[in-house]
Amino acid sequence: MGKGSTAEQDRRWRAGMKANEPERYRALLDANNERNKKRRARIRADPDLHAAERAKLAERARLRRAQIKADPELREKHVQRVRDRFYVDAYGITLEEYESLSAAQGDLCAICLRPQPEWSRMQRLAVDHCHETGKVRGLLCDRCNRGIGLLGHHEERLRRAADYVTGTLAAM
Ligand SMILES: [Zn+2]
Repeated sequence: MGKGSTAEQDRRWRAGMKANEPERYRALLDANNERNKKRRARIRADPDLHAAERAKLAERARLRRAQIKADPELREKHVQRVRDRFYVDAYGITLEEYESLSAAQGDLCAICLRPQPEWSRMQRLAVDHCHETGKVRGLLCDRCNRGIGLLGHHEERLRRAADYVTGTLAAM
């Protein structure tokens, strides 16, 4: 990781060490974290240093935004990253995991096997979680997601609703 190496070379070097020498990699991370922690504490303790650091970070962020704005390829990557973060924050899965789940369901709701309705505010199927374990059950359209939500995600109630519909239809 000598001076003059590119970010890409550094990335590859770290990935190689992570794979081949996990312990050394771990130690390196710990040392880095420790150094950063000390550095941040030093900055926090000194108002002038703190102000300078904030200005430096703001300037770096401004340059980065300008760079992203000017470069369509970078912009596309940025949009992907923002979307990815949205899926992780909102649903606890990456955009990639979402895409593969959606593809596995043929982009259709896991219950009614229909696509997301036109009227929905969300363009894409909702990620349905088990409320107890937090585990992703699958993707649902807004209708079904609201439907089972209104029935409290309650297995027995949902079953009774199905039996009720079946019985009523059979009696007609
Ligand atoms: Zn549905």
